[in-house]
Amino acid sequence: MRYIEPHAHMVSRTTDDYVSMVTAGCKAVCEPAFWAGFDRSSSKGFYDYFRQLTEYEPARAAKFQLPHFSWLCINPKESEDLALAQEVLDLIPEFLDKPNVLGIGEIGLNKNSRNEMTILEKHVDLAAKHNQLILVHTPHLEDKLKGTKLIVDLIKSDSRIAPNRVLIDHVEEHTVKYVMDAGMWGGITLYPESKATSPRAIDMLETYGADRLWMNSACDWGISVPLAVPYAAMEMRRRGYDDETIDQVFFQTPYNFLSQSPNFKI
Ligand SMILES: [Zn+2]
Repeated sequence: MRYIEPHAHMVSRTTDDYVSMVTAGCKAVCEPAFWAGFDRSSSKGFYDYFRQLTEYEPARAAKFQLPHFSWLCINPKESEDLALAQEVLDLIPEFLDKPNVLGIGEIGLNKNSRNEMTILEKHVDLAAKHNQLILVHTPHLEDKLKGTKLIVDLIKSDSRIAPNRVLIDHVEEHTVKYVMDAGMWGGITLYPESKATSPRAIDMLETYGADRLWMNSACDWGISVPLAVPYAAMEMRRRGYDDETIDQVFFQTPYNFLSQSPNFKI
């Protein structure tokens, strides 16, 4: 099979993971900017991180013949510090011209706080001004439904942003309909301990259709599985889906969203 991994934090992974992904049929990997597991001490840490995402990591992936793309932002967790967040926002434009950058992400909310909302709004404004796609992280557990609604409503209220250029990630059974009804795309994250499992993900596809839903591993420095996406394809095979449908879900659908960025060429 061939597939696209639309959300993976490869800076946290080993070269063995690259080998496994390419062997399993991965044709492109996309890496949103996120929290590193610790708060950075200054905007200089983000400057270096953006260089890693736009220069070093694409070169590392290229050694395995895997095209690598990235998204840029300050993640919601570190957005609580408004002064730091503004400094990082000011750094982003100079990186938007890099050839592997797809847009602004993964922005969103973590604790649904006022400061996080302020910085979310500034990211949406940045995306609108620079005509960038948007990739959104939604909060965990009990904050998820409220946070998803806040995010979707904020983005919908900005008339400069076309909903079909926005992907809301980490959707679950209780949030996916709100995203689909808003005309946006949804991402289902396959995690071994939280978020969704393969059977739950396929159930969601069967309920809401696969035209605007993709699956990702969101593999990072925590407990996560870099091959979660092809494993989900196995679950579809077990349910009797043919190769053409599997190609549609795991390659064509993410391709259709991502190729709205002129930089996504594979
Ligand atoms: Zn992520």
